[in-house]
Amino acid sequence: MKVTFLGTGTSYGVPMIGCGCSVCTSDNPKNFRTRSSILISEGEYCILIDAATELRIQCLKNKVKKVDAVLLTHSHADHILGLDDLRHFNRNQKTNIPVYGSVETVNNIYKMFSYVFEETSSNGSKPKFTLKPINGMFNLFGFEIIPVDVMHGGEKVTAYRFDKFAYVTDVSFIPPASMAKLKGLDLLILDALRMYPHEKHFGIEQAIDIVNKLKPRQTLFTHIAHDLEHEKTNNKLPMGIKLAYDGLSVEA
Ligand SMILES: [Zn+2]
Ligand SMILES: [Zn+2]
Ligand SMILES: [Zn+2]
Repeated sequence: MKVTFLGTGTSYGVPMIGCGCSVCTSDNPKNFRTRSSILISEGEYCILIDAATELRIQCLKNKVKKVDAVLLTHSHADHILGLDDLRHFNRNQKTNIPVYGSVETVNNIYKMFSYVFEETSSNGSKPKFTLKPINGMFNLFGFEIIPVDVMHGGEKVTAYRFDKFAYVTDVSFIPPASMAKLKGLDLLILDALRMYPHEKHFGIEQAIDIVNKLKPRQTLFTHIAHDLEHEKTNNKLPMGIKLAYDGLSVEA
């Protein structure tokens, strides 16, 4: 299965509007970060984790032709505002797209995207998706998917495990029962916002501490703020850990 980083930025994106810092004004494209999302593809199937604000641009850049399902981590704006762009895929695929998330997440989507669910005389320009509340492990296109609860400040966020790969973003604490579900990974994608801790996100040191406990074979950090310059940060990270960047594809 292939994992493509559509976006690796924090909620503000990098560059940040109006910021003149060395990362925001960098010429290195690896310091250009759209809001965080990945695409998982295997055979004919493509699954999106989160529908970031720049979904349309991300799909154009990465030549995404198909989205069979969306898994949502939570309902913060940077992870869901691309849902309207699913209509491009509705048009091409001529199907509704299932959108999975915790009960709380799908309830929030129902409220925030109320126009999608209202019957109107012309439904032509609206996205068509079906909300699928999750409750424990589920199967999708032959994948066995394990949802894992993690904490994002005081809010619960859903991480997703596919066999030996897990995507864990927007996290500041992983409860012990969830740590147990994240053991034995080949690839961990983990939130590491900036050098120092944040109330709702891991800083680099806390993220490295989690990696040392879980011992995945490889780790890629995501949801990155403008504080972290790509090359300088990568040069300092321990073996087996790197910052991801927009457009990076890895086998998992
Ligand atoms: Zn976020
Ligand atoms: Zn900046
Ligand atoms: Zn968030």
